[in-house]
Amino acid sequence: MVDWPSGHIRWAPNNSYQDLPLQRLLSEGSGLPAVVENDANAAAWAEAAVGAGAGLANIIALTIGTGIGAGIILNGELQRGDTGIAGEAGHIIVNPSGGERCGCGATGCLEAMASGTALGRIGRRAVAADPASRLASLAASAEEVTGETVHEAARQGDPAALRLFDEIGYWLGVGIASLTNVFDPQLVILGGGLATTGDLLLTPARESFERFIFARAHRKLPPLVPARLGSDAGLIGAALLALRQAPRPRGRTVREFAARPH
Ligand SMILES: [Zn+2]
Repeated sequence: MVDWPSGHIRWAPNNSYQDLPLQRLLSEGSGLPAVVENDANAAAWAEAAVGAGAGLANIIALTIGTGIGAGIILNGELQRGDTGIAGEAGHIIVNPSGGERCGCGATGCLEAMASGTALGRIGRRAVAADPASRLASLAASAEEVTGETVHEAARQGDPAALRLFDEIGYWLGVGIASLTNVFDPQLVILGGGLATTGDLLLTPARESFERFIFARAHRKLPPLVPARLGSDAGLIGAALLALRQAPRPRGRTVREFAARPH
C-alpha cells in the first residue's frame, strides 16, 4: 500500500515493508526527485503505455505471482483512489465462507484462491492425498511442492496438476468477471510469474469469466491476454511514471529530456 503522491509505504501483506517514507529517503539519498508507486500499478502503466494495452484507454492489468496485484486504467489515467491505495483487486473477496485465509487476514480473497502461493498450497494438499501421483514424484516431500512444481507436472500432462490449474483459473475468472462488471475495460492483461503458464491458466480463467460475467448475451467481452513486458513491466512502468512526473524544461520533448544528461 503506497500513498500517492507522498510515496509513503503503509504496509504490505506479503513482505515486511511497513510505515516507510521511501520517496523521501530516495530523494534525500540521491539528491534527485523520486516517484514511488505500487508495483502492480507500475506494471499496469507499462503494459498500458508500451505493452499489451498500448493505444487503449481502459484496461485492467493483473500481476499474478506470490500475490495478485492490479492496476486499473480508465480514460488513460491510473486509478489511485483518494489516497493511492485503490486497485487492490487481489483482495476482492470471491469465496468468504469456504475460501482460504489470505495474507491480509481476510478469508477468500482472490489472491488467496488464485495466486502462485494458492497453487502451491493446493498442490501440497493434492500430494498429501495422493503420494503416488506424478506431481508427488517431482518433489522430495509434500511440504516442498510449490506452484512451480505443479506447473512442471501440468506440462507433463499430469491430470491431478491440470485439475489444480482448472481450480485456480476458475477463481481467477470469478474475480475478473466482478472487476469487468464494475469497470467495463476494453482489455484484461494477465502478467506476473503465474501468467507465464499460458493456456494452463488462461483457458479455465476464460471459461469461468464467461460463465460469471454480468449480462453475457448483451455485451462484447474484453479479451483476456498475456502481458508483453514480462518481469520488466514494473521497472518500465516506474521509469515511465517518473518521466511523467518530472519537470520538463520548455521546448524539449520528454524523449529529448530523457535521452540527454542534465
Ligand atoms: Zn486478502
